[in-house]
Amino acid sequence: MLLNRRNFAKTLGVVSIGALVMPKTSLASVPALVKSKKMKLSFKPYVLEMKHTFTVAEYSRNSTPDVLTRIEYDGITGYGEASMPPYLGESIESVIKFLKKVNLEQFSDPFMLDDILAYVDSIEEGNPAAKASVDIALHDLIGKITNQPLYKLWGLDPEKTPVTSFTIGIDKPDVVLLKTKEAKGFKVLKVKLGRGNDKQMINTVREVTDVPLYVDVNQGWKDKDKALEMIYWLKEKGVMFVEQPMPKTQVDDMAWLTEHSPLPTMADEAFQRLPDIVHKIKGVYSGINIKLMKSTGLYEAHKMITVARALGMKVMVGCMTETSCGVSAASQLSPLVDWADLDGNLLIKNDPFVGMKVIDGKITLNDWPGIGIRKNSKMV
Ligand code: MG
Repeated sequence: MLLNRRNFAKTLGVVSIGALVMPKTSLASVPALVKSKKMKLSFKPYVLEMKHTFTVAEYSRNSTPDVLTRIEYDGITGYGEASMPPYLGESIESVIKFLKKVNLEQFSDPFMLDDILAYVDSIEEGNPAAKASVDIALHDLIGKITNQPLYKLWGLDPEKTPVTSFTIGIDKPDVVLLKTKEAKGFKVLKVKLGRGNDKQMINTVREVTDVPLYVDVNQGWKDKDKALEMIYWLKEKGVMFVEQPMPKTQVDDMAWLTEHSPLPTMADEAFQRLPDIVHKIKGVYSGINIKLMKSTGLYEAHKMITVARALGMKVMVGCMTETSCGVSAASQLSPLVDWADLDGNLLIKNDPFVGMKVIDGKITLNDWPGIGIRKNSKMV
């Protein structure tokens, strides 16, 4: 292979020294050649407009702030995104402030993910969504350079993707009925609970459908005995697991609940990064809901799945309200998880990309390189 490349180089009139290929006559042009292959990060704010008002245990909203990123290298563009639901503390301003500090031009090889992302992580603590926007764009870029989808580079079978849930927010029964009817293509629904009308929510959904349900309480239950009683009731109603049932601060109550619960308990708000799995989640929850905007992106998310599996935990992959960029990136990992909740792009009306599709309820990966997205021609 190397020999062939060297011979090929000779036929072009260049001298090859190891991996470095330089022209015979003009050594002065070498720095310029090397310089042309530098990564350039750019970004722009983008407000995601929701199709419907989104209500969970603690808040309601109609839009989500977002920042779209791109990394250009050698004529190829990788796309990324930071989505910032207000409760996590990041904003368009904080993300842009962080991204202005990121200097990718010091790296000449986009495949050095370990070094590049360690540098990005070291710039400042926190900022997980801002960091994810760089991570996703880098992964998209290296997939495009190799002309392969990420799932292929990771050795994953695209047929092994799970179904994804579609989320039904907390609302009055007539609205819940309408939304549940609209979601009839989905093989599983995720119902938000935790505002005091839990049984009414579930009974209303059950008037329309008998598909399995995921439940997300978003820390809404404060009493562990009542929580356990409710979980037994939910199990009878065809619920598969309960996500973040209690406040993340009630660690002992949560550990007790997991020990006694007939359904798996999944941590969401209770953790963000890789070390949290061992320090905060192990022995307290049955599993984790990984989201790229918490994990700082795909590189760490992939490691988190490995660690959680080693600890015997359940794994799901979720998302924030995101464009097809973030959702398609997360879906590349989905052959590795038990459950998926990747519907964020379906909740917005101004998606600037097309990518992963939900077909017959199942996450369906395309064979486009990188994270598997293209610009949405309707939005450009
Ligand atoms: Mg959640």
